[in-house]
Amino acid sequence: MTVKIQPLPPEVINLIAAGEVIDSPAAAVRELVENSLDAGATRIVISIVPEKWQVQVADNGRGMNLANLQQAALAHSTSKISHLKDLSQITSLGFRGEALHSIAHVSELEIFSRPNTGMPLADSEGWRVVYNQEGEAIEEETVAIAPGTVVKVSNLFGRWPLRRQGIPSAAQQLRRVQLLVQQVALCHPEVTWQVRQDNKPWLQISRSSTAKKILPQLVRGVRFSDLEEVRMEIGGESPTSPKGKQSLELVLGLPDRCHRGRADWVKVGINGRTIRSPELEQTIISALARTCPRDRYPICFIHLRISPHQIDWNRHPAKTEIYLHDLSYWQEQIKGAIDKALELGAETMPESPLPERVEKLLKASEKKGVYNTRKSDGGDGGNSGDRDLGLIELKAIAQLHQTYIVAEHPNGIWLIEQHIAHERILYEQLCDAWQLVSLETPIILSNLSLAQLEQLERLELEVDSFGEQLWAARNAPLILAKRDDCSDALIELSKGGDLEAAKVATACRSAIRNGTPLTVPEMQDILEQWQITRHPRTCPHGRPIFLKLEESSLARFFRRHWVIGKSHGI
Ligand code: ADP
Ligand code: MG
Repeated sequence: MTVKIQPLPPEVINLIAAGEVIDSPAAAVRELVENSLDAGATRIVISIVPEKWQVQVADNGRGMNLANLQQAALAHSTSKISHLKDLSQITSLGFRGEALHSIAHVSELEIFSRPNTGMPLADSEGWRVVYNQEGEAIEEETVAIAPGTVVKVSNLFGRWPLRRQGIPSAAQQLRRVQLLVQQVALCHPEVTWQVRQDNKPWLQISRSSTAKKILPQLVRGVRFSDLEEVRMEIGGESPTSPKGKQSLELVLGLPDRCHRGRADWVKVGINGRTIRSPELEQTIISALARTCPRDRYPICFIHLRISPHQIDWNRHPAKTEIYLHDLSYWQEQIKGAIDKALELGAETMPESPLPERVEKLLKASEKKGVYNTRKSDGGDGGNSGDRDLGLIELKAIAQLHQTYIVAEHPNGIWLIEQHIAHERILYEQLCDAWQLVSLETPIILSNLSLAQLEQLERLELEVDSFGEQLWAARNAPLILAKRDDCSDALIELSKGGDLEAAKVATACRSAIRNGTPLTVPEMQDILEQWQITRHPRTCPHGRPIFLKLEESSLARFFRRHWVIGKSHGI
């Protein structure tokens, strides 16, 4: 494909939200990196020398010939769109043809580039071009370089001392670049990243096939096995998506394994770029509100690949904020994906099945059919989305310490904490139907403050005065109504919190206590109801509900891979 950089027609220029986008070294890096990605690079090296106000981005992308190099930094010159109609079809990260021009304006710009013909021995020449403030080529010479492009920006804002003053410290700039690279790496897992500071390696992210494999490289303490991934195709076309269909990719830190004190790893990417979308970020946080512990936030990355028609990038010149035309539709899709990621169906089989050799040995030494060691459905790790959770096959075996249900799973052993599993079941039932029923005999409450009475009223509980410092409660939440401690529960509800909090409190109070003996059928019943809850991993307070001992780990621990012959000295 021959690429030609050309000036945009004026009617297009007038339509795009133009603006000075280069206001910091990090902004220059952002624009250059996006150009490298648009050029199909799979290796990007960013070098920063804060002292010299220098940034450089080198890539192994498509490269440019001399004619394109001469055009590249002129105002509104781009190879990415050429007509008005292209504006609604944007699939590249850049399209305004402004970045190199703006950079030339505020720095000393030089570009080394050699077209990447894709054929190892094909002839292509490398050129070094130096630009003036207007973005015009003022020096050109051939150079011996590998295919790809190196954009070198020096003396940034040298002619704009006031602008330099407004820029945060070198350390903060680096932090911004780090964040930027981390975010962009999630959207482009196929790229290897290197950031060098003062010519020393400073940050490295290795390429991988999915964002799920990138995330553990970015967030300290998060392991691959702490994450769940969901990919969904969504009706409608999207040219930016690998299969041409709109899609959603979710990587979620399982809430019983990881969460953070800030919402700093709730990230949304759209068509290859991480954006700030307060609405979608809030959707994620709310969807996990009674699943993560209080004041803790999920680790979550969502990448939407959607039709360019759905997006209006003109919210912000740096394209970091957008308008989505059908916001509530996408919010629903995100909630659905989160629910899917939390289903226990994903637990069916271990992440890394046993090596084939071990599996053969196990088969030889075990009675047939004791354990499954491979995904039997050949599926994609529980993303099939159906809730036919016969899939999980959890079988209650015994109760331990009147607290834990021991369950057998085709893959190992699970321990389920009876109280909080039941709490999760009841909480979701209450969310689906918060039902108040009239009490046959009113419950008498005493010593209620005005605030407590108001709170009960807010929860639509009917309480009438019944004498000096006495009140009669005429209704109660269904699952509390028949309990002996209903009056205590009503007092608790009167003490504050919204309806949500009341549901949590009610579920907690009504759930089977630890210390209660349970029969096997009772335990099986709990297991079955719990498995089909929407968020079965944690209770509404965010405590983990189950612990699994995977057969693969047990086999490793008990050294079941030791060849019998060896241990018998044969
Ligand atoms: P835009 O990205 O909006 O098109 P830019 O000013 O960022 O505008 O870049 C102008 C043009 O220069 C791009 O359209 C592209 O053709 C070319 N270009 C810039 N950087 C690179 C690169 N790293 N590799 C190949 N081509 C590039
Ligand atoms: Mg660009």
